[in-house]
Formats: sequence, C-alpha cells, structure tokens
Amino acid sequence: MKVRVLGCSGAIAKGCRTTSFLLDHDVLVDAGTGVGDLTLEEMRGIDHVLLTHSHLDHVAALPLMVDAIASQRTAPIQIHALQGTIDALRAHIFNNTIWPDFSRIPTPEAPFVSFHSLAVGQTLLLAGKYIEVLPAVHTVPAVGYAVATGAGCWVFTGDTERNPALWARINQLNVAMLVIETAFSNRERDLAKRSLHLSPHALASELDCIDKGKNYPIYITHTKPAETDLIMAEIQRFDQTAPFGPNVTHDIRWLRAGQEFEL
Ligand SMILES: [Zn+2]
Ligand SMILES: [Zn+2]
Repeated sequence: MKVRVLGCSGAIAKGCRTTSFLLDHDVLVDAGTGVGDLTLEEMRGIDHVLLTHSHLDHVAALPLMVDAIASQRTAPIQIHALQGTIDALRAHIFNNTIWPDFSRIPTPEAPFVSFHSLAVGQTLLLAGKYIEVLPAVHTVPAVGYAVATGAGCWVFTGDTERNPALWARINQLNVAMLVIETAFSNRERDLAKRSLHLSPHALASELDCIDKGKNYPIYITHTKPAETDLIMAEIQRFDQTAPFGPNVTHDIRWLRAGQEFEL
C-alpha cells in the first residue's frame, strides 16, 4: 500500500498543510488543506474518505473537494466517520448555509456524497483494505485508524491525549509505522491537556506504553507551525531524560508533507 502525506501540520502557513493522507489512489484519511495539492484527476479517484473527527483542520478541504469533482463521478464519494462526526458535518457544514447538502444533491437517490457511520473496534473492508477503527481521546468524538498492509499495519492516532485503550490494542498488532500527534510543546502542556492533545512530555509517557522489544518507526505529526522547532528539540532530548532510561530508545522520525511510504 502506498501512503502519501498530503498534510501533517497542526495549522496553516506557507508550506504547512493540515492533516490528510492518501492511501493508494482511492482512500483518503482526513481531508485537511493538504487535499488542495491533488490534481482534479487524483481527487476524482477517491472513492472513500475516512475522517478521524469533525475539527476543521481535518475536514476543511472536504466540501471544496466534493464540489470540485462530484459531478464528474458516477458514484457517491463515501464518507466514513463516527455518527457524532457525521451529525456535526450535517449540522455545521453541509447545511445549505455554509455549503450545499451534497448528500441530497443532485437527487436524494443518487447524491454526490453518502455518509457511513462506524464504531470503535470495528474493522471495515474498503477498496480491498482492512481498516480497524481505533479509540482516541479528544474534545469531540474522535478515532484513529489501523490499516493492514503487506508489511504490517499503518497506524494513525488522529488527535488524541493520553490513550491507554489505544496502546492496549496497538500492542496486539504488527505495526509497520505509527503516526502519532504532538500538537504542542512542553511550554504549552497545560493548553495541550485542556484541548486533549499531546505534548512531548505526555508523548514520552505514551511511548512508554509500547511493549518492550517492539521497535517500529514512530512519525510525529500535527505540530503547530510556530512550535515545530521547539517540539522537535524537546523530543530529541528524550534519550537523556525520564521516563526513558538509557537502554530505552525509540525510532522517532518527523513526518513531512510530500513524503510517500510503500508498506
Ligand atoms: Zn482535533
Ligand atoms: Zn487537529
């Protein structure tokens, strides 16, 4: 499976696009501003959109993408999310005020988009991919995803604070690559806690939940652009500071928009 990083920033600025991943050519995970880098033809090929939650940095490009391509498609774009996320999209975006209700346009029988609710713990089979819905701890209903590939699972936490249920499940999986958020620096850790995001301090104790002996690559995502350098510096100091002892190291890397992974 090919994973293309369209956006992995916690906010916008020149060169910073918000969360979105393209899996092969037909499954989109989140629809942040990174979607704007796709060509019309690439957007037309997307049959399924999986959303982690309703926050704008994860859905901002969805209504615009649907508008750009839907009339050129023969089947609805299927949007998969928690029912709470779907309810929020219907009430606040596809509400005929902010944007047309494309689940009823051009006709309710053959709309441009269809909504499909999912639940934590469920495994979906979409476009030939097995996708497990993982728990997340955030200020609105939220999930992460584990997608089975030939090399193991591609795991994306979505936006989350400390999440014991996630580690209980991840430790049972053969993980090929973990993408985990760290939105704020330690300086902003109170804000991180209030907004249910991770800071490097919280990330350290989260990574301590990984079963010993497992050493898959861990990619940091969703850093706020104004704090990215600081967050990276704080994470790079992990090796010398608690809770990791000198014998515990993790393979921590930085996610960047434009990266492609073959799993
Ligand atoms: Zn969020
Ligand atoms: Zn976010």
